[in-house]
Amino acid sequence: MSNIDAILARLDNVRQGTKRNTWMACCPAHDDTHPSLAVAETDDGRVLLHCFSHGCDWREILACLDLPESAVFPEKASQHHIRPERRPFPAADILRVMANEAIFLCAASRTIQNGGALTADDHKRLILAGERLQAALSYCGVAT
Ligand SMILES: [Zn+2]
Repeated sequence: MSNIDAILARLDNVRQGTKRNTWMACCPAHDDTHPSLAVAETDDGRVLLHCFSHGCDWREILACLDLPESAVFPEKASQHHIRPERRPFPAADILRVMANEAIFLCAASRTIQNGGALTADDHKRLILAGERLQAALSYCGVAT
């Protein structure tokens, strides 16, 4: 089984991303209900993991999947030739994460407009929505 297959097989809610060899899934390193973990396989066989919600560390994500750190590197990698990939995830996947947050914000606003009150959990979720949007911006290199 290739690295990417082993990782995808352990993730929940995996769906194809908008670009070839990219996926979105629920992040195993935090309580994730909307898929916020972007997964990509590079042409040289590395697997890239990026949590758009909490910015969870890839080592932590692998630990939650019960996989060693070597699971993201190709088997015969010449380790000194590995360059960090810069922003490999397509904008459309990031937009999708942001759109999910916007839907939540609209629902919260409708509740308030109808005279309802937000629960403590709703407040926490609103803060998380803000953090996700900030994370998406900073991933794209936009200063906040
Ligand atoms: Zn995460």
